[in-house]
Amino acid sequence: MDKQKYTPMMQQYLEIKEDYADAIVFFRLGDFYEMFFDDAIVASKVLEIALTSRDAGAKVPMCGVPYHSVKPYIQKLIEKGFKIAIVEQVTEAGKGLVKREVIRLITPGTVLEDGILDAKTNNFIGSILLTEKGYALTYVDISTGESFITDGLEKKQALDLVLSLGIKEVVLPMHFDEYIINSLNDNELLVSFSDQFQIIDNKNLNHLEREQKRAASHLLNYLVNTQKQMINHLMPFKVIQRVGHMHIDYRVKKHLEIDESLVNNSQTTLLHWLNECQTAMGSRMLKSMLNHPLYDIKALNERYDLIEAFTPYQPREQMIGHLRYIYDINRIVGRIAFQTVNARDLYQLKETLRQVPDLKETIKRYQNPKLDEMVSQMDEHQTLFDHLEQSIHDDPPITLKDGGIIKKGYHQKLDELRDIDLHGKTWLSEFEKTERDRTGIKNLRVGYNRVFGYYIEVSKGNASLVKEEFGYERKQTLANSERYITPILKEKEDDLLHAKERSMTLEYELFKEIREFAESFTFSLQELSTKIASVDVYLALAIVSEKHNFVRPTLQNGRDVEVIQGRHPVVERFTKFVANDVIMKEGEIFLITGPNMSGKSTYMRMYAMIVYLAQIGSFVPAEKARLPVYDAIFTRIGSSDDLSGGKSTFMVEMVESNEALTKATEKSLILFDEIGRGTATYDGMALAQGMIEYIHEKIKAQTLFSTHYHELTVLENSLERLTNLCVKAKEENDTMVFLHHVEKGTTDKSYGIQVANLAHLPKSLIARSKQILEKLEDKENKVVLDLFNYEKFEAEDVQTINPDKASVLDEIEKLNTDQMTPIDALLLLKHYQSLIKPKK
Ligand code: ADP
Repeated sequence: MDKQKYTPMMQQYLEIKEDYADAIVFFRLGDFYEMFFDDAIVASKVLEIALTSRDAGAKVPMCGVPYHSVKPYIQKLIEKGFKIAIVEQVTEAGKGLVKREVIRLITPGTVLEDGILDAKTNNFIGSILLTEKGYALTYVDISTGESFITDGLEKKQALDLVLSLGIKEVVLPMHFDEYIINSLNDNELLVSFSDQFQIIDNKNLNHLEREQKRAASHLLNYLVNTQKQMINHLMPFKVIQRVGHMHIDYRVKKHLEIDESLVNNSQTTLLHWLNECQTAMGSRMLKSMLNHPLYDIKALNERYDLIEAFTPYQPREQMIGHLRYIYDINRIVGRIAFQTVNARDLYQLKETLRQVPDLKETIKRYQNPKLDEMVSQMDEHQTLFDHLEQSIHDDPPITLKDGGIIKKGYHQKLDELRDIDLHGKTWLSEFEKTERDRTGIKNLRVGYNRVFGYYIEVSKGNASLVKEEFGYERKQTLANSERYITPILKEKEDDLLHAKERSMTLEYELFKEIREFAESFTFSLQELSTKIASVDVYLALAIVSEKHNFVRPTLQNGRDVEVIQGRHPVVERFTKFVANDVIMKEGEIFLITGPNMSGKSTYMRMYAMIVYLAQIGSFVPAEKARLPVYDAIFTRIGSSDDLSGGKSTFMVEMVESNEALTKATEKSLILFDEIGRGTATYDGMALAQGMIEYIHEKIKAQTLFSTHYHELTVLENSLERLTNLCVKAKEENDTMVFLHHVEKGTTDKSYGIQVANLAHLPKSLIARSKQILEKLEDKENKVVLDLFNYEKFEAEDVQTINPDKASVLDEIEKLNTDQMTPIDALLLLKHYQSLIKPKK
């Protein structure tokens, strides 16, 4: 493009745009942010604003949004996954071209604006890197300062985590693994690229291992580049150890509707019914607990203890009363760090701190040593509170430069300036009176003109009375009078003329000092925030438990399960729930049969929910629950067919089943719902039976397997740890009554025809179908074979390439070695080696 043909301003624009090709450039011109060229065409469509043009040497497409109400426009673009480069004027308007620079790059993962961010959800930005220990995922919420890293991941685990944590934007090195890039794109996540790895010297990284530091620095470099400043308020990176956590992939979370609804109705999620939190920090912490279920009996019992501690009813109302007035400390601290905080935020911070002493007193009423310990660690920030209480106005405006922020009595000079501004006239007449009294000149008068400013006027007749000691200095001689000034008047003149402006500037200066003072409390405020969040969360869980009759689960190292009268925590909100028991032994498989709609799926989900709740540290909906801890939950539950992703229902079913079959251990929980539906009957039945046997013989994980193939129930005879369960239904007057009661035993038919009858299919068709069924059932189609010898098969199968090896070969074929650094190549080699080495 020939830049020369454009005006200097447009050339300036084009130069900036060159560096921000992947962003929409918001170019500040007076009271507007203007967009030009393609940006204008795209943005005018997305924002539904008029596309005009500007003559800038040549005609240029243009659209603009007002500076003072830019937020909704930013929000819209960010939600659509755009990045926005904010270009501001950085020098005062004067002669020649104003200098302009990008002051911030706003991306979906780095928004800070209150109102765009959801208070109850973290806004994470992440980075994936290949390290010596496999893939590392680093993620940070810059609005709250929370920072995490987890490493030693496989590629798919890293992707799973990105999806399950709801990370908004992922930073990758250039020329990264295509599978990862494509998967992120498929899920409509914004991918940003950065090749800056230099280690950031920051105390928040000191405790990390070398490779973890490199991964964290990769993300931090990107953040510093987009924010154009060091990110000072980040908390030390928390290393998420995979060993202490239960493994769940995002599909499990989705199937069980943990925090995301399958039908776009938040009321069907577990999160919705658990969230009795009063504060935004509490809500986010609860969500984070749901995202990171634990596999650690001790840690879980500590959580149960806290719920128990908050169970007594007495102080509850008071607790809620205090928590309700607690604002989002973390995000205010974030805005302090980014200097986008306003006086209203600081007022809210102060009101929050006001609650702390009373909150602590109320917690003490529980008389629980654990809570007392928590209380003792809650810093009231008395100094900061006092400072804010003295300085910040109670109802300050959002703008910082128009005054009205600082309280009277905080700063003498400010009070004077305000006083002058308010009482300028009074002061002048008082001054006049004092001077008359002092000099004895009765007709002395104070006046003002534009050339000389304020003066004291004495008539010619009285001029001789002006004495040296008055300190009057002659300024002007007129026909009938002399005009003087005094040092006091001179000083005041300045004040009088500029009082308003000065007081506003001074207020802003003072505000900046106060902000700086508050910033020095960043880390202790974040600690306080975390403490309050946990108080809020455990109180909320105690409230839920009490409201809905949850009990404290007993966790044990053994694998026996004893759930008495279990309920599904969400389904029971919508209907009168029929409670069911789950009594299970080590390695047991439940084969669940029963007609459609009888409650097979709900029973399986109910148990998974109870396990999930127990492992986030919550009480569970049952009369009694003795549970093992699971290292993972795997689900294959219908209805999430990835047709748009180009995979058929049956293929998705098999891919998901394979996750469980290859990753589950004897300490995992597997839920398989109606496996084999998507293919022909015998095909499906054979696969279903194959899977059950494989799990029974090889994996030995506790499994709930629902099926409409009632033929499979004969497996109870050959598999010693398989138990048949059924959900019976009664046929009454040609209709079916569902009791939803799960018991031991089998159903001898699928009830498909009965259900078809219920749906009022033609009577003759139903009659004919019954005939056909009878004939088919005459044929013996129950397959009882000797159990398969898996060890022998695998020993003989060493020649064939195992699936990991095959996928490694696939990947090597796709590599673009021209674009790899030697280090990357070595790391990748090491990674492949780890994949194909026999696992111990
Ligand atoms: P299936 O998997 O056997 O086809 P579902 O588990 O999907 O059946 O259950 C169908 C419907 O029956 C559910 O949507 C729910 O409303 C109801 N239901 C299932 N189990 C129960 C139960 N234990 N108590 C009350 N209602 C239930």
